Amino acid sequence: MNIVWLKRDLRTQDHDPLQVAETADEDYLIIYLIEPSHLEHPDFALRHLQFCYHSVKDMNERLTPYGQQVHICYGEAVEIFKHLSEAYNIKQVLSYQESGTRATWVRDKAVSKIFEEKNIQWLQFQRDGILRGIANRINWDKRWYAQMEEVIIENTYSSSEHSIEDQQFKLPAELELQLENMPSAFQQAGESKAWQYLKSFCEGRGADYFKYISKPEQSRSSCGRISPYLAWGCISIRQAYQYVKTHPTRPQNKRAYKQFLTRLHWHCHFIQKFEVDCDYELLCVNPGYEALEYENNPQHLAAWKTGMTGVPLVDACMRCVITTGWINFRMRAMLVSFLCHHLDCDWREGVYHLAQQFLDYEPGIHFPQFQMQAGVTGVNTVRIYNPIKQSKDHDPEGVFIKKWVPELRPFPEAMVHEPWNLTILEKQFYNIDDSYPEPIIDITAAGQAARDKIWGHKKHPEVRKYRRKIIERHTRNRKFSKTAN
Ligand SMILES: Cc1cc2nc3c(=O)[nH]c(=O)nc-3n(C[C@H](O)[C@H](O)[C@H](O)COP(=O)(O)OP(=O)(O)OC[C@H]3O[C@@H](n4cnc5c(N)ncnc54)[C@H](O)[C@@H]3O)c2cc1C
Repeated sequence: MNIVWLKRDLRTQDHDPLQVAETADEDYLIIYLIEPSHLEHPDFALRHLQFCYHSVKDMNERLTPYGQQVHICYGEAVEIFKHLSEAYNIKQVLSYQESGTRATWVRDKAVSKIFEEKNIQWLQFQRDGILRGIANRINWDKRWYAQMEEVIIENTYSSSEHSIEDQQFKLPAELELQLENMPSAFQQAGESKAWQYLKSFCEGRGADYFKYISKPEQSRSSCGRISPYLAWGCISIRQAYQYVKTHPTRPQNKRAYKQFLTRLHWHCHFIQKFEVDCDYELLCVNPGYEALEYENNPQHLAAWKTGMTGVPLVDACMRCVITTGWINFRMRAMLVSFLCHHLDCDWREGVYHLAQQFLDYEPGIHFPQFQMQAGVTGVNTVRIYNPIKQSKDHDPEGVFIKKWVPELRPFPEAMVHEPWNLTILEKQFYNIDDSYPEPIIDITAAGQAARDKIWGHKKHPEVRKYRRKIIERHTRNRKFSKTAN
């Protein structure tokens, strides 16, 4: 028989491995692995696994009527495949390629060795137009757009005669309970929910997509909000692309949808780069920035992680993302900028913390984006966000801030951005206590010091050397590229 190994592709439609398994002569089993070693990796968070667990449950609701189901197996991939290859006569394992961290790459290499030993063929399919083993990205964009236009696979299912014994690789009861209890503040998992979000985006929410894209409050409904579904594969990029591109509401939302489709392209563009070099999880894109020294004050880091810096918008964003798992792009960028520039912390001090908070954690986007905002890629313009200006521009009435920082609710609107300006008398007048901290740094001075540091370092010979190389590579790669139409 064959085995379909699900990874970040938790859906029943537009699924190559499931289609090939269904049309092959052999029976097939579908498995999803929860690996104890993965739970130890610093990017792991229970919320990610809860989302995957419920996505698998959603798949099973669709598959059970056809006599198929996804078997969740708890154990290390190598051990599970060793056991399965002894218990069954396995011809092929089918999966998507995983453009993940070094840990998943190393795991895949170990698994591949087992397959070789057992004479099992491992068929790995391209995921969302991301190519493995390419020397450069010339014509990559063109191929990606061609893939997005390809016919969507309509998967069909027939029953399987095989099964995995209930007791084999069983989830520990305690973990299962934790997975069942996914907090309701998170976006709910699964293919059905993915389509609900996409549908409501095109049927109304998306009209103000670009107008509110930078606003922490309004963007929660005007943005697509399909990122967790794309990250864990409850929907393919191609499904999302075609749905929005051909939607009857496109003519009246041309600009908004164009921006949205461009971002789907960015999604894969980032992952493609990470596929080629996953060391960006640990090392600066431009090695010249490894020479930078940081203060890395543990108290500052702890305040940033818990939303207690005394800077209202920064704290509101962090508390919001801890509770809900989502915040818009600009606020993610500001959180990183504040950590790396104002608080003078190395990007590696905070990168896993946010990875754990984002329900849509996608290594191929997360690590490069984090580095871009930290200013260590050497090719992108370094932006140091002033958190007070961001606050006044994007949450002028403090609606978002007051929602997430209840200590600031009694403050008058105009004072919510800089609560430290309130006099003792005013505090008494508004009945305000001291529960909200004073800012842990002088924002203006820290911003200036950060600008001097990061722009000064741009001239470092090592940074220049690598910058030239990176730009040369970019230019070569972009020579024949095409933008969204
Ligand atoms: C520090 C930092 C870390 C980030 N980490 C992640 C991550 O782990 N996973 C993730 O999916 N996105 C990440 N992003 C990108 C972006 O913030 C999210 O994709 C976006 O906020 C998701 O919300 P949405 O689905 O409503 O996006 P929409 O604006 O509706 O866009 C549609 C889709 O396009 C893609 N997309 C949007 N913006 C970007 C972008 N700037 N780069 C690449 N793809 C994009 C996403 O898949 C998104 O779902 C990160 C950004 C920053 C600054």
